[in-house]
Amino acid sequence: MNELNVPRPNNLDAYWMPYSDNKYFKANPRMIARAEGMSYFTPDGREILDGTAGLWCCNAGHGRREIKEAIQQQAAILDYAPTFQLGHPIAFEAAARIAELTPEGMDKVFFTNSGSESADTALKIALAYHKARGESSRVRLIGRERGYHGVGFGGMSVGGIGGNRKQFGALLPYVDHLPHTHGIEANLFAKGQPEHGAHLAEVLENLVALHGAETIAAVMVEPIAGSTGVLVPPKGYLERLRELCTKHGILLIFDEVITGFGRIGTPFGAERLGVTPDIITMAKGLTNAAVPMGAVAVRNGVYDAIVDGAPAGIELFHGYTYSGHPLAAAAAIATMELHRAEDLPGRARAIEPYWQEAAHSLRSSPNVIDIRDYGLIAGIELAPRAGKAGQRAMDVFRRCFDDGVLVRVTGDIVALSPPLIIEKPHVDRLIGTLDAAIRAEAA
Ligand code: PMP
Repeated sequence: MNELNVPRPNNLDAYWMPYSDNKYFKANPRMIARAEGMSYFTPDGREILDGTAGLWCCNAGHGRREIKEAIQQQAAILDYAPTFQLGHPIAFEAAARIAELTPEGMDKVFFTNSGSESADTALKIALAYHKARGESSRVRLIGRERGYHGVGFGGMSVGGIGGNRKQFGALLPYVDHLPHTHGIEANLFAKGQPEHGAHLAEVLENLVALHGAETIAAVMVEPIAGSTGVLVPPKGYLERLRELCTKHGILLIFDEVITGFGRIGTPFGAERLGVTPDIITMAKGLTNAAVPMGAVAVRNGVYDAIVDGAPAGIELFHGYTYSGHPLAAAAAIATMELHRAEDLPGRARAIEPYWQEAAHSLRSSPNVIDIRDYGLIAGIELAPRAGKAGQRAMDVFRRCFDDGVLVRVTGDIVALSPPLIIEKPHVDRLIGTLDAAIRAEAA
């Protein structure tokens, strides 16, 4: 036992940690035992300012009483009910609440348990949609380099991260990738959406010319790619993708697992970015991460085509034991209520200019080669150490943690995405500690 009365694990061997350097961690464990508001606490009671909202997910801050009580109450009423051919009221209510937040005309919601499941569900819905409309030849899926859509076979295949794919063989066939929009020199240190790069959407025309529109089911992109280092779409890029998808009868899927639930100042990113997709995937902020839950919202016409177009019986042969799980649905409703009552998207918008200036103040820190931001997201890119990609940022991550601030690193990019309840003194501490860590690493 220790200060927080958290039992120390006797044995670190059994747990195979996800996406982790297990050997390093088990030799140098950094544990988190408790969370509240903007902060985590280690087992010995040290406070760590959360600069990442967990993993881009605890948008309303940690330990929210309203969410906890909703889960407790629901657990006492109905712990679980089967999801096939049976319903429970709270799942319907959660879906209706989500539909209030999605763009107009996207009122149908399918529940999953994670972002990865949402990605695979969205891809399957796209394929089923075309089939229901008699266009069975539309089977090609198009993603984007450096896209991340989770770890299921669909999302991994459509995703464009080499490191996530190479270990696992050939993956799905009939998948192509658009180029990512990063690396244009004139965009370096751009604030908000960069000016240059909308032309990269035209590559979709090349794929249509190559394969024929009649073979392409869907294009899937994150409006802002988060996990690969905060790649903000150039002005006009998403608009052009939308135009081309509409022109060629291709469904446009936005993976809003990160950009959903206020992260960029509107309930969904589609609203602020001014582009409406046909399908939106979500997870993370939906329940404030208190209980796992994901969802897929679709344009009503997509639902109608599948549900009305199917012969009598089950319309979509897809679903999870825990789709719309009562505890998760309760957490989701409580979370959305908090977002509404506290206008969390509005809070994010209000502090965004201060956040942006603070993030860009790191431009004068050593080894910083680019800074990108949008909403309450920022990516600070460091020059890699010679021959050792990722090590510089990892060193910065460890220094920050030891100095009481949690950041996330991906490659040599430090990604920040604090809870939307962040206030100016937190911003100052987060950016100040990061600056000191970058300077200490360079010294
Ligand atoms: N899509 C995006 C855009 C994500 O950022 C993530 C998680 N970082 C996922 C999908 C996968 O979500 P999960 O880890 O809940 O499966």
